[in-house]
Amino acid sequence: MEKDKYSYITENAKEILRDMPSGVTLSAAAKTRSAEEISAVIKGGVEVIGQNYVQEAEDTLHAVSGKAELHLIGHLQRNKVNKAVHIFDMIETVDSYDIADAISKKCEFLGKIMPVLIEVNSGHEEQKNGIVPEDVLELIKRVASLPGIKVKGLMTIGLFTDNAEEIRGCFRETKRLFDDIKVMNIPKVEMEILSMGMSASYKKAIEEGANMVRIGSKIFGPRRVR
Ligand SMILES: *Cc1c(COP(=O)(O)O)cnc(C)c1O
Repeated sequence: MEKDKYSYITENAKEILRDMPSGVTLSAAAKTRSAEEISAVIKGGVEVIGQNYVQEAEDTLHAVSGKAELHLIGHLQRNKVNKAVHIFDMIETVDSYDIADAISKKCEFLGKIMPVLIEVNSGHEEQKNGIVPEDVLELIKRVASLPGIKVKGLMTIGLFTDNAEEIRGCFRETKRLFDDIKVMNIPKVEMEILSMGMSASYKKAIEEGANMVRIGSKIFGPRRVR
């Protein structure tokens, strides 16, 4: 491999970071990307890598050079919990009591506490992952007492649409929920992170209050077909 094959990724990351308002964390959505591509993004100063699949994260993990947090941003299946708990620094996609309980049990066994975000289905789409906004508070209250996890905030994807105002509405509703829950000061719940916005929508998401954005193609280039 030529030495600077992926320098464009490093430059893209630097450019996005340069324009990022302070207090907003850039997470690089790395699905389908190689360890070398992920290393290039870390070289550019990105401190969080987001992976959709447990297996893919594990496959690239040891070949990545540089240090970054690893976040799970894809749906977590029950049978992948054990592995996920070993690999990830944060799980952004908790959307049921059962998955939270499974994560907690495994973490308790390992003597650690996993920071998690609750994934909000802000588009109210039936076949989507995440929990609908109306049910988020109840879920947070239920999972708050689990000893092996700590709720740190909310994550949402929002509607898959080109309608900018519809996407903005999803972000706005999620931010309102985030603020409402934050002021409740629920014991053991620290509402600090609001993860929303992707390549096409992150500027809107930041305007609506996101403090973590997940950007893939704008950093790495067009996605390869899996
Ligand atoms: C792929 C992905 C992203 C980034 O998408 P881009 O459009 O490539 O920026 C963000 N969040 C999640 C959950 C993703 O799966």
